[in-house]
Amino acid sequence: MDKSSPPLMSHHSFTITIIGCPNCCMTPYFSDFGIICNYRPAVNHEKCVQCGACGNYCTEEAISLESGDLVIDYEKCVRCGGCVKECPADALYIDRKCYKVVVGGCGSRHPQIARTVTECTDVTGVLQILNKVLHLCKQAPFKGRELSFHEVIEKYGIEALQQ
Ligand code: SF4
Ligand code: SF4
Repeated sequence: MDKSSPPLMSHHSFTITIIGCPNCCMTPYFSDFGIICNYRPAVNHEKCVQCGACGNYCTEEAISLESGDLVIDYEKCVRCGGCVKECPADALYIDRKCYKVVVGGCGSRHPQIARTVTECTDVTGVLQILNKVLHLCKQAPFKGRELSFHEVIEKYGIEALQQ
């Protein structure tokens, strides 16, 4: 901050939001870099008594009891992990904890919702993406003003972070 001229303002800062579940109450989708903790559920069919409590709980309608067999639709599931706590038979469990990474969000004059780089990666994957982000920021040209990070993403494409 001491070295900057003109004075740094809030829109100059690079914002990183880390959130513990997909409810996203701290708005990672309006941050430059958002890390969203995910909990993927799975079922132990031998323990399941088919009571339907998990399906009633899931507001994403990701759980169904088809032909007497419990099915989790991972396309619909947002990996909140909430259904696991609802199961009275201890049949549901978290089989993978991982991190969704979103980038390029901005809540300014022209709001932008952050775009998804990956739905599910580990800590190493998060740090690799963050390194690529910082590299792109350093490459970005200056034309009278600094580019916002969502403009950097528009220039280089989200694919530059997915390779
Ligand atoms: S983890 Fe959340 S979204 Fe996924 S099936 Fe369970 S309650 Fe539904
Ligand atoms: S709450 Fe548990 S026991 Fe009931 S249907 Fe779901 S997984 Fe099966």
